[in-house]
Amino acid sequence: MISGYTALYGLIAHPAQHSLSPFIHNTGFHQIQMDARYAVFDSQATPAAIASAIKTLGIRGVNLSMPYKQSLVPLVDDLTPTAKLVGAINTIKNEAGRLTATNTDGDGFWRALQKKHPQRRYRSVTILGAGGAALVVIEAAVRYGVQQVTVFKRANATYDSVIQRLAQISLASGLQIIVEPYDDQLALATALQNADCLINATNIGMTATPGNPLPINLLQYLPEDSLVADLIYAPRETAFLKTAQKAHYQIQNGLGMLIEQAALSFEFWTNESMATTPIYQHLNGGNDAS
Ligand code: NAP
Repeated sequence: MISGYTALYGLIAHPAQHSLSPFIHNTGFHQIQMDARYAVFDSQATPAAIASAIKTLGIRGVNLSMPYKQSLVPLVDDLTPTAKLVGAINTIKNEAGRLTATNTDGDGFWRALQKKHPQRRYRSVTILGAGGAALVVIEAAVRYGVQQVTVFKRANATYDSVIQRLAQISLASGLQIIVEPYDDQLALATALQNADCLINATNIGMTATPGNPLPINLLQYLPEDSLVADLIYAPRETAFLKTAQKAHYQIQNGLGMLIEQAALSFEFWTNESMATTPIYQHLNGGNDAS
């Protein structure tokens, strides 16, 4: 039952109505018997109006997605070191009007890999794309034993600013980060030869933007015991993952990242753990991990 005491949490984004987050978080609140609900706020209000609404309505915690991940950064009171470094947030906690923000996406990605492949170690990683999701995955990588990342990014207007951001991450973490132009196939083949893990962090392969993020013939350079991951979870199996599976690589889609980033947000708000096994089972056709 919702009462006058029920704590309110939610996702603020646009578009937002397709989100799986209400299912995940409301399952979590039910698990820990907390008088709280998670709703979707599909909004295009200004960032200032959003920050003000969180405070004035006493919303206890929110997740943010497009278009608010960067624009709300200057409007919160405190940022975790991760949020500061990547310049983007996906989680805000409201404690008596004081807003603290973090970003759980990167740790969510690596936690999902750890859960599905606990025996694997990743020293050298190749990432296709350098958008918001790639940056958080790179920032978190060092906490999971990664020593070197090679990033492939289109040589366009954002190239220099992304290099600057990655240099800051490298300086703070000690992670070795190399950036190469997306269309440099020789550099790609060389990076793949040394990679324990290849990650698609571009939009290519989403239902709305189908395709393969790298020329298929280049996959032959990736060692056969490497893992191929895609941040995309809709569809669950992208053309990229299908190609990799056919070539006998182990694969991982983005569903685990979605679930684990949510579990980390939940912990940030409540200091309690979410049991993710039933959530994996529900969202992944009865399987324990994606
Ligand atoms: P983003 O900030 O828009 O970045 C997209 C990246 O893809 C950019 O680096 C962009 O290149 C690159 N790209 C797009 N089209 C390309 C093309 N044709 N050729 C080469 N590169 C191309 O988006 P994002 O937020 O990082 O999201 C990236 C992916 O991660 C999306 O598919 C998203 O669904 C997924 N994601 C999943 C989760 C999860 O929980 N599983 C969470 C967040 C994101 P430029 O930099 O050159 O523009």
